[in-house]
Amino acid sequence: MKVTAGVAGRNPDPAYLAAWRDYVRRRRALVASMVWLPAIVVVAPRLGVHLPEPPLIAAGAGWLGLFAIANYRHSSFRCPRCGRPFFIGLVSNAFAARCVNCKLPKWAERDPSFDVDRNLD
Ligand SMILES: [Zn+2]
Repeated sequence: MKVTAGVAGRNPDPAYLAAWRDYVRRRRALVASMVWLPAIVVVAPRLGVHLPEPPLIAAGAGWLGLFAIANYRHSSFRCPRCGRPFFIGLVSNAFAARCVNCKLPKWAERDPSFDVDRNLD
């Protein structure tokens, strides 16, 4: 059987795919936690709905709490290769395209160093 390592998209590591699916869920939760209350505040008056102030203040506190939790979950996502936080290292970057600890590219379907090793054969 011919080894086809090095071709993107072939022989993906199920653990990596599962990790990225988990990351997508965390990112969606972060975006949803950011936009739900501003969306209500913008859309409700246009629909003629009056938002009473006390529940709105409570909703604002809830919005901050949900955003803090979602942001923590997003930033604590662990790299599928090194197991350390993907976005937090000596230098933290929430938009990092590579793991700040081991430089694994975001969305890598398996360990790229495996490809390098196989190509040297
Ligand atoms: Zn890593």
